Amino acid sequence: VKSYDAVIVGGGIIGGSIAFELAQHGLRVALLDRQQPGLEASWAAAGMLVPGPESPESAALVPLARESFALYPAYVAAVEEASGKTVEFRIGATLHVFGGVHAEQTPEAIPALLAQHGVPAKALTPEEARRLEPGLNPNAKSVLLLREEGRVDARSLTAAVLSAASQKGVEILAETSVEALVIEKKHCVGVTAHGEKMPAGRVVLAAGCYCETIAGAEGYAPTRPVRGQMIALRPAEGRIRHVLRGEHGYLVPREDGRVLAGSTSEDAGFEKRVTPGGLQQILRAAVELVPRLESAAVVETWSGLRPDTPDHLPILGPTDIDGLLVATGHYRNGILLAPVTAKLVGEWMREEEPSLDARAFNPLRFLQKKMQAGG
Ligand SMILES: Cc1cc2nc3c(=O)[nH]c(=O)nc-3n(C[C@H](O)[C@H](O)[C@H](O)COP(=O)(O)OP(=O)(O)OC[C@H]3O[C@@H](n4cnc5c(N)ncnc54)[C@H](O)[C@@H]3O)c2cc1C
Repeated sequence: VKSYDAVIVGGGIIGGSIAFELAQHGLRVALLDRQQPGLEASWAAAGMLVPGPESPESAALVPLARESFALYPAYVAAVEEASGKTVEFRIGATLHVFGGVHAEQTPEAIPALLAQHGVPAKALTPEEARRLEPGLNPNAKSVLLLREEGRVDARSLTAAVLSAASQKGVEILAETSVEALVIEKKHCVGVTAHGEKMPAGRVVLAAGCYCETIAGAEGYAPTRPVRGQMIALRPAEGRIRHVLRGEHGYLVPREDGRVLAGSTSEDAGFEKRVTPGGLQQILRAAVELVPRLESAAVVETWSGLRPDTPDHLPILGPTDIDGLLVATGHYRNGILLAPVTAKLVGEWMREEEPSLDARAFNPLRFLQKKMQAGG
């Protein structure tokens, strides 16, 4: 049986980016996926890169998100170079329509929150907003220009990351479902897959919303699937140039002229259905933002499962089981957070002091809560 320095469980953007990072540092790495890698949440994502807080509740994520956003250009360049593939990645402004298209004023708390986190935001008049984005609903009065955002084609990025990892020597084992962690005397020494033990120096749990289904991982990675449906549209006329976010949905342009419209947030278990109700909600929000999308062609619909956690923050870092690390629970921001996650896991693997304070994401926080609750 082959032995690896690290076995990574899950081949989405998170597992793939970690594998690529570790292989670049000379580790022998295996990446295991229960199906073909790269076809779950990371395939479904809209690819918005939003480093600022979207609500007061998401403020704890901002330092991590900003660091990841800063790492993005170098991360994409390294992935492109190693894989030989091109990834559609743009840094550019987003227009955020606050309080709905018909609101007269931006809710005061929003600019204050953005300012508090040093996010540059400029209030636009409806005329200024429509000069930038002529298709925008003329009734949209409360528009903020958020300059420091970006977008990436999550599907081609994930595929390129996996190919970059493979080029650097990562062994990618598809159709290899991890059934359990092998834990001996508080030490994780490998995993079992196909009923056989696969030894490893370290195991990184990166199976997205499926982490809790792996025996031995319970408690450390209590992830939960939150379904998001998406629609790709091709406008009959005119291009959309900016990411447009509103109260009820968002639009993300692609270089080929398509526009991705999203999304729903549904508690539907592991069921990846696309529903009339979901599509209706997304289309209503899309047409509210840009009325002429009413005549667009619907070119694709799909859904994916975001890995959510009890406090909606990621779960990152070593555990109290030697050799077991967790990197999951990236919920709405896993595409954005892939570079910083890979960097941190690399540091933990080398037993270096992490370059960023990640205590809020400690995998032991849920165990402690469980114990305090007496069970
Ligand atoms: C509709 C939608 C829109 C989104 N939009 C954005 C966005 O605009 N910006 C952003 O940053 N994020 C966005 N996200 C969130 C982002 O997609 C996720 O946070 C991210 O993809 C999580 O990556 P992951 O690698 O952890 O999980 P996944 O991509 O789900 O990968 C997990 C992998 O683990 C594998 N696996 C599961 N169980 C096992 C097992 N037992 N053994 C082996 N392998 C296993 C799966 O097959 C899968 O390949 C969006 C998500 C959705 C659904």
